Amino acid sequence: MNAVLEVKKLKKYFSTTKGIVKAVNDVSFNITPGETLGLVGESGSGKSTVAYTVMGLYQPSGGQILFQGQDIALSHHKRKRVLKKELQIVFQDPGSSLNPRQTIENILTLPIRLHDMDYKKGIAEKVQEILSLVELPVEYMEKYPRSLGGGEKQMVAIARALATNPSLIVLDEPTSALDVSIQAKIIHKLIEIQQEKNLGYLFITHDLSLMRNIAHRVAIMYLGRIVEIAPAQQFFETP
Ligand code: ADP
Ligand code: ADP
Repeated sequence: MNAVLEVKKLKKYFSTTKGIVKAVNDVSFNITPGETLGLVGESGSGKSTVAYTVMGLYQPSGGQILFQGQDIALSHHKRKRVLKKELQIVFQDPGSSLNPRQTIENILTLPIRLHDMDYKKGIAEKVQEILSLVELPVEYMEKYPRSLGGGEKQMVAIARALATNPSLIVLDEPTSALDVSIQAKIIHKLIEIQQEKNLGYLFITHDLSLMRNIAHRVAIMYLGRIVEIAPAQQFFETP
């Protein structure tokens, strides 16, 4: 299966007052459609820097980022055109990523409009469809983020990511701020949606145990490098 994302020898260095920080140092991995790669490591190991560079928020210091075979590290133009639709991100804190002055309907309508999706049923129907995908009631369209619980907000952030029909979603600690019971519910939903849409996930977390049910492969990051990458079951085998 062709990879949706191929990262080759990615480097991201920051110059700081204390010198150069090699936040990401020769990191390589790929993700195929329908696959979850868990990127696991302690705080400061470089996970978020990988995510932000892949998302185009940072200019890489070296290496290649191939998205569906196209090198997106080279061209800002290509990045904009291809990535804004195809590549979405869900952050740890849904509260800060949802505009408090917009209704859920507006939050979900915006990405559909921006990407001029080829939806035949109209925007309202499309919004209803993505809400039902994350199992939120249609009446939530009228609500504002503040009236929702933490897990519900995160479901809206996931729905917004799905609104452009992406092929890859970066999940940056998407459940770390939530209660354990809600965590499980969201993971379960993410798996269902992935199977339905054949989505790739890059799932970033400091919590290896969270990867047990969702990751197909796990990459362990340490000091800016991937020190191990293997099928998930290898990390959970009982001797
Ligand atoms: P993680 O997501 O695994 O916690 P980060 O990617 O946030 O790790 O950080 C990796 C390393 O890069 C850390 O040493 C961090 O201090 C450093 N770093 C991250 N972002 C910046 C930045 N904008 N400027 C300077 N150093 C940074
Ligand atoms: P600069 O950061 O010097 O303005 P560009 O004009 O090439 O460089 O990039 C503009 C934007 O595109 C920046 O926000 C940058 O982070 C982003 N970008 C550059 N390289 C990549 C890449 N490999 N993947 C995604 N986005 C990128």
